[in-house]
Amino acid sequence: MSSKKNWFFMSAIVSTVIAARLIIAAPQQTTALAGEENAHYAKKAKYVFYFIGDGMAMPQINSTEIFKGTLSSKDPMSKDKLNFTVFPNQGMQTTQSANSFITDSAAAGTALASGHKTANDVLGVDPTNAIKFKSMAEMAKEKGMKVGIVSSVSIDHATPAVFYAHEPSRNNFYEIALAMGSSGFDYFAGGGLLSPTGKKKDKTDALEIAKQKGYKIVNDQNAIMNLSKNDGKVIAIQPGLANDEAMQYEIDRTNQLSLADFTSKGIELLDNPNGFFMMVEGGKVDWAGHANDAATSVHDVMSFDNAIAEALKFYAKHPDETLIVVTGDHETGGMTIGFAGTKYETFFNKINKQTLSYEEFDKQIKTYRATAGEGGGNLQDWLPVLANEFGLTELTAYDKERLSEALAQSMIEPKKRIKDEQTYLLYGGYEPFSMTVTHILNQKAGIGWTTYAHTGVAVPVFAQGVGGEMFQGYYDNTDVAKKMMSIMGLKFQQ
Ligand SMILES: [Zn+2]
Repeated sequence: MSSKKNWFFMSAIVSTVIAARLIIAAPQQTTALAGEENAHYAKKAKYVFYFIGDGMAMPQINSTEIFKGTLSSKDPMSKDKLNFTVFPNQGMQTTQSANSFITDSAAAGTALASGHKTANDVLGVDPTNAIKFKSMAEMAKEKGMKVGIVSSVSIDHATPAVFYAHEPSRNNFYEIALAMGSSGFDYFAGGGLLSPTGKKKDKTDALEIAKQKGYKIVNDQNAIMNLSKNDGKVIAIQPGLANDEAMQYEIDRTNQLSLADFTSKGIELLDNPNGFFMMVEGGKVDWAGHANDAATSVHDVMSFDNAIAEALKFYAKHPDETLIVVTGDHETGGMTIGFAGTKYETFFNKINKQTLSYEEFDKQIKTYRATAGEGGGNLQDWLPVLANEFGLTELTAYDKERLSEALAQSMIEPKKRIKDEQTYLLYGGYEPFSMTVTHILNQKAGIGWTTYAHTGVAVPVFAQGVGGEMFQGYYDNTDVAKKMMSIMGLKFQQ
């Protein structure tokens, strides 16, 4: 009897508490309750920028700051901050996927876009391909916001694709391209499509299908810059793309549009009374990391930072309604500041002498191979080139030995090269001579690399604007998405 009484008493209290919570929550349904999963942030961000530097963690960011500082000042110890490293809110996120401490971009992107863990190679679905994970971009679109997806690599690549596609493999490029056309998103820009007609090139062009679904497709610099809100849904592809349908590396870019250009155009097209969500990926920081090319990496981080400057201009006009989040999906290359040969010193001015990416340098090697051929090639031919294009004027006997061996390897047609352990550890499947040149230059600058793949270190998060303080602390990559959804008034789906 008394226990029953107690039960009634307790349940009355519980009901009262629940009722009180409902009353508090009712007017806005957004009151944050401490510790509650997916608690909604009280104030909503109307304009949301999500900048993802692929393969960009602290070493890439620090290196760029030291590089800028070295160039801009007579004080050799100066470090120039980047636009985003001065954001008032900073945190760290762990990046492991559902099946590895070293994530790939598909699993990391799925976490950053939807708040769910999945396995490496899997895009926007669970590892068994049974559950689709809705991304914040899809939710934002449903809510009536405009949505933009910008990348310096192909727009069907893993990081942009996690925001609109759901595939058991990131390599299902045709299916991903179809998902792009069906997304209803307002602005796709930057790189092209890797497989618009499918693996066998026998399918209807995905861009044609997108056109039928109302997209305007532009592939001309003037046409892109002249786009206006009257053009409706747009797919804007940089003309003259580099390898793999990606924009050129910043270090190689001449008069082509920059990531900042695509970002400012996006802001212009997406700005509307219902707000917008725009994801901008700096995709080639990752590629430069895979190739262990530090100069190319820092130039791409600077290009990414310039794109963030465009968001900051918008932020200055709408500081109470805008959120900018900047992070990476994982680290690439095992880049670090410090090398055995340079001990406690760095010489970042040395990488400023590099005038082109490894990718452009590869083309010169290919041309040379066509005449020199297997068993041919002489390092002497290359010494003036290494001086002019990489500032490598002081080569030791050991450097020359490494370069000669690599040059000999590069004179063999790629398909005929031996694929043994030593070759992989030295060159990672890249052009041996290019790889050795950048390794030697980076090492002289005091920059080390440990891998041609990704690493499992944590990645920093920088936030400014509405709800920015939620990004302080040390959390998981899935939490980045959950925090953003909360600030955008979107419901994280379990
Ligand atoms: Zn990545």
